Amino acid sequence: MSAQVTDKSALLTAVLKLEVKNGYSDRAVIGGLDNFIRKWAESEARGASRLKAVLFDGTAYSAKSIEERQAWVARVLEEVERPSRPGPATVPKAAKSTTQKAKPAPAPAARKPGMLDSPATSVKGVGEAVAKRLAKLNVLTVRDMVYHFPRRFIDFSRRCSISELAMGQEQTVFVNVWEARTTMLGRMRSTEAVLGDETGNIRAVWFNQPWVAKQLKTNSRIALSGRVTEFNFSKVFENPEWELINEKELLHTGRLVPVYQLTQGLYPRQVRAWIKSALDCCVKDIDDYLPPSIRTGCNLIDLQRALMQAHYPADYAAQGQARQRLAFDELFLLQLGVLSRKKEWQEDQPGRAFRIEAGLMDKFIGSLPFKLTGAQDRVMGDICADLAWEVPMSRLVQGDVGSGKTVVATLALLMAVHNGYQGAFMAPTEILSEQHFNTLVRLLSEMGRAQQLEPYLYSFGGIFPSEVKVALLTGSMSAKEKSAVHAMIKAGEVNLIIGTHALIQKGVEFKGLGMVVIDEQHRFGVMQRTALRQKGFNPHLLVMTATPIPRTLALTLWGDLDISTIDEMPPGRQVIKTRWLKPDERNKAYNFIRRQVGEGRQAFIICPLIEESENLEAKAAIAEHERLQREVFPELRLGLLHGRMKGADKEAVMHEFKEGRLDILVSTAVIEVGIDIPNATVMLIEAADRFGLSQLHQFRGRVGRGEQQSYCMLLAENPSDQALERLRIIETVNDGFILAEKDLELRGPGEFFGTRQSGMPDLKMARLSDTHLLELARKEARKLFAADPALSSRQNALLVEQFHRMWDKSVENN
Ligand code: ADP
Ligand code: MG
Repeated sequence: MSAQVTDKSALLTAVLKLEVKNGYSDRAVIGGLDNFIRKWAESEARGASRLKAVLFDGTAYSAKSIEERQAWVARVLEEVERPSRPGPATVPKAAKSTTQKAKPAPAPAARKPGMLDSPATSVKGVGEAVAKRLAKLNVLTVRDMVYHFPRRFIDFSRRCSISELAMGQEQTVFVNVWEARTTMLGRMRSTEAVLGDETGNIRAVWFNQPWVAKQLKTNSRIALSGRVTEFNFSKVFENPEWELINEKELLHTGRLVPVYQLTQGLYPRQVRAWIKSALDCCVKDIDDYLPPSIRTGCNLIDLQRALMQAHYPADYAAQGQARQRLAFDELFLLQLGVLSRKKEWQEDQPGRAFRIEAGLMDKFIGSLPFKLTGAQDRVMGDICADLAWEVPMSRLVQGDVGSGKTVVATLALLMAVHNGYQGAFMAPTEILSEQHFNTLVRLLSEMGRAQQLEPYLYSFGGIFPSEVKVALLTGSMSAKEKSAVHAMIKAGEVNLIIGTHALIQKGVEFKGLGMVVIDEQHRFGVMQRTALRQKGFNPHLLVMTATPIPRTLALTLWGDLDISTIDEMPPGRQVIKTRWLKPDERNKAYNFIRRQVGEGRQAFIICPLIEESENLEAKAAIAEHERLQREVFPELRLGLLHGRMKGADKEAVMHEFKEGRLDILVSTAVIEVGIDIPNATVMLIEAADRFGLSQLHQFRGRVGRGEQQSYCMLLAENPSDQALERLRIIETVNDGFILAEKDLELRGPGEFFGTRQSGMPDLKMARLSDTHLLELARKEARKLFAADPALSSRQNALLVEQFHRMWDKSVENN
């Protein structure tokens, strides 16, 4: 209350001083001083009677002579300044100093240690219902609130007076409320207010927000931020942000105002207030875990300040410093994680150096029905060099869809068998495992005599002196079959095992696992990789992915892996004809599918990506499947695939499609992974504008795997300019690497490659363009490991704690 009085006195003082400057011409406020004084005095309903007596001396200001005005102003100023403040009163300072004043620490009693990790509901105003909404944003605890960074800021830091307001810019004025009322504007109950400062008055309207009127008490002082427009030749604020000016810092106006990601039922003002109170109560409990030497060496600000400034920065420079510090932390902890994994993989247990025999390579390569591409040859070279070494291999092979990664993997597996070890080949789904099993059987049949012992077991003679046995192990095999395979693996009777993650489940023991290949790595988590390692001694590891990634991202996600790239496609690959169709060409697309099916081909129809939830997405897919079956293709056999189906049901549908018992497969994005159905020639993607380039390219790679010319049709109702650019690019560019680079450029890393599915911690602040920061973080992480290999020293204890906080969470999510 006292602050408000002070502010109001300050306003009166300011107006009068302006009047002095203007030579007592009664131009200081629009509408005249008499009007202003009357309104001003109304707010002083109680008290200040002395002042009122001075103010209302019986003659209106407008009626006074210049000398009378001079005397009157002097008396009023004396009275205003008398009671509290010696010296001249000042206009409230610009937003910066008002808002960024360091807050005095609250009384120690308010400090609750451990509050950071208590649920979000411990913040005042956050109830169970709100907590549920926050949970959708992965904000569960008070700490999560502190780490829920704004997506961007609105710059309301430009403070000016009413007379200085310019059209179309974000600006802030500090004003008095003269009048506020609800009114009908068009058909909306709205608020209309007249506000003023020492330089004039202005109108503000809040459409469809009648409640604002009640909150704007006459003569209260508010900050107003937004843009002014012109209406009937006068300036007006439309739907400005506003807040009362009191002792608290400004949160919504007059500064860089944070804009947070929201979800249904959450409103910007509330979220700002909650996060601010989380910051105010708890940031001081957060210890800076970064060793001081790194902090100073890398020129980083301290953590508490970074957290505060990340939300409520003094200016963009301060926000930049905060981001720098927090992004460094993310990358540094990430590098600690990947480097420690690499160390664990390579140092804890030794690997086995394989004997690489040129004869075996020649025999294998000679048996292939095609000539290896130069890139395949080079990557095989990388792998053989790794295998010949005692340090276990830890290599990522990236290569576009169809670039021939499987052949490369097969050779690596054969090297293990040749050296007397077992090899395992893991894929994310059963159907992919079966596909790999069949491929391997086909390739080995070219090298030696094949004999099928069971549906899931082959034996090959003539490759090595002893028989080579190859088995399939998937979750859907019968318990009896599974235990038979388990027994053979344990006894060392099978040499190569292909399967899903059933391969690393309990009960699977290897006799001597020497080589592990993991296909489509980003579907596998950290845990699963670690689990694999625990079977026997430390095997060589080869990870394969069809999502090519630029170097920064690779280092960030897979800093523990060496990288080889197959950047050349086998010759004679058909180009998949890709076209973006206008909405009115939808029927043409359906007719095209009908004709292709008529010729014995099959088609995929991909449903729109619905980001809010897998549930909604599944529902939409179910509805679309039904519509297509009933209204568009009643004569054809349609299957449905979506993320809410059980694993076994998904597999069953894929099987039906693969075996040609379905003509069209309607699917959500779950189809993405490298399934091979040579007879499928058409890919129709609905709402293609919602997908990224890499994902579209993955979808497209599901067709064109056979002899027949294949097609990809993209539908997009109303693409944004950026989406349109993506559609144009995918129409003309076939190279997955170029597409990945473009995608990253256009959409940024978060959308490009959900870190969630990669088993990596979320990066909130770091960007892929932070190459320099990443290199710095990597260097510092290396240095730290060199000085404290087990991270066991006392001064690193806080760091280790934070490290676990970050990584354990990501493993849980995975
Ligand atoms: P991906 O890299 O997508 O896993 P695959 O290993 O499944 O690719 O190979 C795709 C197809 O290309 C397979 O049918 C494979 O036999 C064939 N292939 C692999 N390498 C070559 C090559 N050098 N020349 C011709 N065809 C090849
Ligand atoms: Mg593949």
